[in-house]
Amino acid sequence: MSAILKLKGVSKAYGTQQVLKPISFEVGEGERICILGPSGCGKSTLLQLVAGLARIDEGEIEMNGVVVERGNHYVPPENRPINMVFQDYALWPHMSIRQNIEYGMKRRKVPKGDMENRLRRLQSLLKLDGLLERLPAQLSGGQQQRVGIARALATEPRLLLMDEPLSNLDVKLRTDMRSELAGLLGDLSIATLYVTHDRMEAFTIADRILVLREGGIDQIGSPSELFERPATPWVAQLMGYHNRLKVRFGDAADSVVLAAGRPVEGVRMTPGAYAGAGVMMLHPESIFVCEGSVSDGGNRLEAKAIRAIYEGTRWRLIVETADGQPLHLFHDERVEPDARLTLRLPAQSVMLYADPARSADG
Ligand code: ADP
Ligand code: MG
Repeated sequence: MSAILKLKGVSKAYGTQQVLKPISFEVGEGERICILGPSGCGKSTLLQLVAGLARIDEGEIEMNGVVVERGNHYVPPENRPINMVFQDYALWPHMSIRQNIEYGMKRRKVPKGDMENRLRRLQSLLKLDGLLERLPAQLSGGQQQRVGIARALATEPRLLLMDEPLSNLDVKLRTDMRSELAGLLGDLSIATLYVTHDRMEAFTIADRILVLREGGIDQIGSPSELFERPATPWVAQLMGYHNRLKVRFGDAADSVVLAAGRPVEGVRMTPGAYAGAGVMMLHPESIFVCEGSVSDGGNRLEAKAIRAIYEGTRWRLIVETADGQPLHLFHDERVEPDARLTLRLPAQSVMLYADPARSADG
């Protein structure tokens, strides 16, 4: 797979704020990459650098094997093989839908016949029948966003940049559009860099997810790689590992790890030998209440029930370990406060990390 986009050590600061640390990654032909991270972590900045709407400080950007920015060499946005879809649609309010879609093609001097063909194709692809002569204000939010996508696709970019394109839609429409968009991008097999702060959106759209935290890449991988082997406690948290327990690593590389005074087995995610304080991350769904004295393998941990919250299809139990650390888990029945429970934690779903305060990438 040849790369449509290559970033090598690209960084960006605004004033004294280092918004992006040196970042390197590639987008392959037809590949959809989602940039996932909380508000303010630098997602939009990264997209703007790729688009050429902001200048990079260091490093190099390559598109289709051609360097578009390095040092003083800089190719402006209109000459990069890209197009962009924004969160707020950014349609021209005084132009009809047809004029909005034709605008970019006219600027790029696409011949009239080609323009008509593309317009017809996009009209059916994005379900815009009967809307072309209207003004943007006469369309619903979902329709406007479809026009935004049609307009971006009309110039036949090699790389589509999308910055939270669904975040202005209401929840129901967003969920529908999410799968519709995933299908559309899959059918078009157009390389896409898609910014979102929503994990489910990233899971639906992405071939690979790039997790951005404070301007640095914590992990890049397929949704299942991230979900099953989160590289840092932070990625784990993002992937729904909402339980965090303090643990203690022994001195040898394969030594016993203690959680709440009990030995636990798990997946060691911090490379190399490690001794001292650490954390273990665990999904609420991966903790089970032991019934009776079955010996079905896995770690055992004693806990005391604090509260049971009815959630309709199940109860959420909040319990406390012997050393007073809280854990959340799900159970199919209510448990009285102060009840003593034995919990089973399957070793393959226990993620173990060195102390994030002392390792570089916590
Ligand atoms: P995100 O899209 O992940 O929410 P942004 O990339 O928009 O984050 O912003 C990251 C950080 O960079 C923020 O702290 C923001 O204030 C800062 N920033 C972004 N653009 C500019 C700019 N043009 N001038 C100064 N600071 C900026
Ligand atoms: Mg943003």
